[in-house]
Formats: sequence, C-alpha cells, structure tokens
Amino acid sequence: MRVGVPKEIKNHEYRVGLTPPSVAELVAAGHEVLVETQAGGGIDFEDQDYVDAGARIMPDAKSTFAGADMIVKVKEPQAREIAMLEPRHLLFTYLHLAPDPEQAKGLMKSGATCIAYETVTADDRSLPLLKPMSEVAGRMSVQVGAHYLEKEQGGRGVLLGGVPGVAPGKVAILGGGVSGVNAAQMAVGMRADVTIYDISNKRLAELDMFFGSQIKTAYASKAAVAAAVQSAHLVIGAVLVPGAAAPKLVTRDMLKTMKRGSVLVDIAIDQGGCFETSRPTTHEDPVFEVDGVIHYCVANMPGAVARTSTFALNNATLPFALRLANMGAEAAMKADPHLANGLNVMDGKIRHKAVAEALGEEF
Ligand code: NAD
Repeated sequence: MRVGVPKEIKNHEYRVGLTPPSVAELVAAGHEVLVETQAGGGIDFEDQDYVDAGARIMPDAKSTFAGADMIVKVKEPQAREIAMLEPRHLLFTYLHLAPDPEQAKGLMKSGATCIAYETVTADDRSLPLLKPMSEVAGRMSVQVGAHYLEKEQGGRGVLLGGVPGVAPGKVAILGGGVSGVNAAQMAVGMRADVTIYDISNKRLAELDMFFGSQIKTAYASKAAVAAAVQSAHLVIGAVLVPGAAAPKLVTRDMLKTMKRGSVLVDIAIDQGGCFETSRPTTHEDPVFEVDGVIHYCVANMPGAVARTSTFALNNATLPFALRLANMGAEAAMKADPHLANGLNVMDGKIRHKAVAEALGEEF
C-alpha cells in the first residue's frame, strides 16, 4: 500500500503521524511511504531521517494525499485536508467527531474510509490509542504543577519534594485511572506527599497494592475532597466518566478554603473539567487565577512535549497501521473487532453507533 504522512496544519501541532522508525517498519513490510517535506521538522525529524528510513519526500500536502491510499495523521483533518480526501483513501487519525458535525459532514462527503484512534478498543474495554496521551498528560501534570508552585510564577513558593528538615508539598490526585497513576508516579518520584481519591473501590485496592506505602488512597466523598483541597498545594483533576461530562468535584466554595498560591491542574478539561472554576486554556496562555489559586487547564497537554508524544502514540498506533497496510481496511477490520470499533465513517455514512447518535445521523 502507499502510505502518506502529511505535515500537521492545526495551530501549534508539532506531532507527526509516523516517526522515521515506524516508516522503516512499513517499508520493511513492503509498503511505499510518502512523507510531506518537513512533516516532522517541528520535533527534529529531518527529511533525511525519513529518506534513510526508506520514505519518499513529497513537496506538499497535495502531492502527499494524491500519491497515497492510506493517510496516517495525528489531529482531525482540517477543511483544507478534507478537501483532498477521496473515496479510495483510508484515513487513520484522531477524529473526535461527536462534537464536530462540520468535520463529520466533510468526511461523509469525501467518501473516504475513516478510522479514529479514539474509538479503537482493547480486550479490557480500554481505549489503547488514547492511553498514551493520558500517560503523557498525567506525567506532565506534576511537572507543570511544580513549576507554577514557584513564587516567580505566582505560586505559593513550595518545593514539592521538600528538603531534609522541611515537609514535602501535598499533592491530591482526583481520579486514579491512567493519568492519575502516571501523575502519582511522578509526584512520588519527587518525594511529595501524595493521596489519590477515586470512587471505584476496586481501583483504590489496585492502587494500594501497586504503590504500597508510597501513597495514601481515599474514597472520593464530597467531604474527603473538600478536606483534600483545603490542605493540598497541588490538586490534579484526572477523573473520567466515559461518555459524560466530568463531574465538578471541586466547587467554588471549596476553592475559597484553599491556600493562596496553590495550584489546580485540570487534566479532565477536555471533558469540561472537574473544577467548577475551570475553563479551557492554551499553551500560549496556560494559566489563570481565581481566589488566589492558579488554574492550569490546557486541553491538549501532550502537544507541549510533541516529540515524546509522537513516539508514545506511534508505539500504540503502529501495529494497527501495519495491519491496515498489510491487509487493507476491510480485511483488517474483519480480522480484529477492536480495530473495527475504530471505524467512524465509510461510504458516506457514519459507521460508529455512539458517534452517529451524538451527531443525530443515521447508523
Ligand atoms: P481513566 O478512565 O483511566 O481514569 C478515570 C478515573 O476517574 C477512574 O479510575 C474512575 O474511577 C475515576 N472517577 C470517575 N468519577 C470519579 C469521581 N467522581 N471521583 C473520583 N474519581 C472518579 O481516564 P484517564 O485516561 O486517566 O483520563 C482522564 C481525563 O483526562 C479524561 O477526561 C481524558 O480525556 C483526559 N485527558 C486530557 C488530556 C489533556 O491534554 N488535558 C490528555 C489526555 C487525557
């Protein structure tokens, strides 16, 4: 198959669909890979790295789309890209179609087959192509939290790890799933005083087994959360109720009880956020203050560490990309129901039940 990798055109998006090592795997499997010039330039993958991996460099997006049967990207296609899609194309990327009827209409009109990373499933009912980004966001949340706790950033002037003779900072993590665990690992590594709050007793037991005495766990009752935010220096919002808006665990009233200069990092902002006072921010202007508490609510945190995120994403997507290229979309989806769950659009129709329902389209 001829696989195309265009340069991402969404604002401040430096990730790229395939790394040079992934290209080498596809080439070794007998496929031709066309990479738009400077597709990975933002994260130091030079055209020569792709040539060395066996790719052909294309001068622009138009020739990349025109020459390829399968397009591998990161972000949802922008209007300019949708205009280049044809019925013969197989598009493999994040789509997030449910809240985006305009994109859905464009993809339906294109006639292309579109498989979305975010709806591919795994045996344990998890979403394996979303997981790496939750891992990145979780680990990053402690890094940014520690940064904004510094006095120069408007923070309380607290070092999360403390020093000999001075107590460490307190970190409260709301939600002990993928991003919560990754946040805890970083906070533990810094020697902070860490507590994870969750409403799943099964999850709390798993966390207790996994971390042992390195952290504390607590059931996320309203009272426990209220007490946690009052004493914490850094609160990380990492909850998820699949398919629903994030519950507002920290209310405006609770915020008033927090120490001045403490920091909230709302990872769950892409689902509306789990602090009542959260609103989405960007990497250009990542924080704002309410009642003296710093809020960091960037909806695409992994974009800031685009190089790590690209490798992490490729680790998860490459096996599926290889199967799609080796077998073709229909046979690959027939052989793997988890990959078939990724199908969102085909033959001008929405082919994913939940996405169709959200868009009010027939399924
Ligand atoms: P996950 O499903 O692995 O974990 C969510 C956890 O929240 C579960 O353990 C669940 O039991 C717990 N939970 C649910 N309701 C709760 C409540 N009321 N109180 C306490 N705990 C509760 O989810 P995840 O992969 O860690 O993702 C978390 C959020 O981060 C999602 O909204 C995801 O989309 C988002 N995310 C954001 C970014 C970003 O850049 N901002 C990047 C990746 C993921």
